Amino acid sequence: MSEERDGVPLTNLDQELFPDAGVTKRELIDYLDAVRDRIIPVLRDRPLSVVRVLRGQDQFMQKNLPKYTPEWVPRTKVWAEASHREVRYALCNDRKTLLWFGNQRAIEYHPTLMTVAGRERPTHLIMDLDPPEGGDFTLVVAAAKLVRRALADAGLAGAVKTSGSKGVHIFVPLDGTAETGDVAAATRAVAARAEQLDPQLATTAFIREDRHGKVFLDATRSGGASVVAAYSPRVRPGLPVSFPVGWDRLDDVVPADFTVRSALGLLGDGDPWAAAMPAPQPLDAGLVEQGHTIPVARVAAMHEGKRRARARRAAD
Ligand code: ATP
Ligand code: MN
Repeated sequence: MSEERDGVPLTNLDQELFPDAGVTKRELIDYLDAVRDRIIPVLRDRPLSVVRVLRGQDQFMQKNLPKYTPEWVPRTKVWAEASHREVRYALCNDRKTLLWFGNQRAIEYHPTLMTVAGRERPTHLIMDLDPPEGGDFTLVVAAAKLVRRALADAGLAGAVKTSGSKGVHIFVPLDGTAETGDVAAATRAVAARAEQLDPQLATTAFIREDRHGKVFLDATRSGGASVVAAYSPRVRPGLPVSFPVGWDRLDDVVPADFTVRSALGLLGDGDPWAAAMPAPQPLDAGLVEQGHTIPVARVAAMHEGKRRARARRAAD
């Protein structure tokens, strides 16, 4: 039996989303619909990738829209340098599109850091904090406070949310004057300064084996990168959601506190992500300047990997 909402046909609503989800497709769609006024503002006009789980298959990230996408789904083309082709991304700007994605078993919503109107001007500087293998969430919280201090020392303020998975994301809203390369540089400088504040706790080491049980400050989320949206569910048992947490409440939470079942009760009519977000800010020039002296992690890691391989071969 098929149902319809806002003109969008909804199917198989009583199926579990994936093995061990413990959540039906109906619960996902009801949740998305209930938070639409809060999640659409963070998705609007941003090329969207979604993580879908089709029955009996592994999850996958979808960027390019499938051929059968209804014509009323807003979209934009983005040139993908890596694959040398145009990718047709959806723009989740309205309730119908959100419901359609929900019915497509799109569980996670990953927008880019810039909008279609300002492709070279990221709207946020992002720090992605990942706990060490098996590490406690309290470590991530402590590291997040280092980042907050490093930002404050540069005259910047941000908001923090759980990723819905293991770590947290810090979002610093920008006033649109800085271009991608400078935002990326400033992000590297913030990470380096936060690491300096407590090198026993936090690391900027891109190569896993160099992290030694520390929290990884990932400064590479910039440019065309995406970060999972606030309020987005994650493909994990119980469908935890990426959830805003006040700086003063970070010590009292764990990521599993926030799921498609618990989030709505905690939110009420509120939009804590919008409420916690400071006003858009200009980047600190000193931060940008310092950042341009720090190599891009991915590139540095590639060179280092080759160097170590040569050293191993030489040792054999
Ligand atoms: P966790 O707390 O477990 O780290 P996370 O969402 O932060 O969860 P990361 O692996 O740290 O996951 O990645 C950060 C963000 O980068 C993701 O939210 C996602 O938007 C983007 N991302 C990560 N891996 C990919 C990928 N393979 N393709 C596209 N985007 C990705
Ligand atoms: Mn992360």
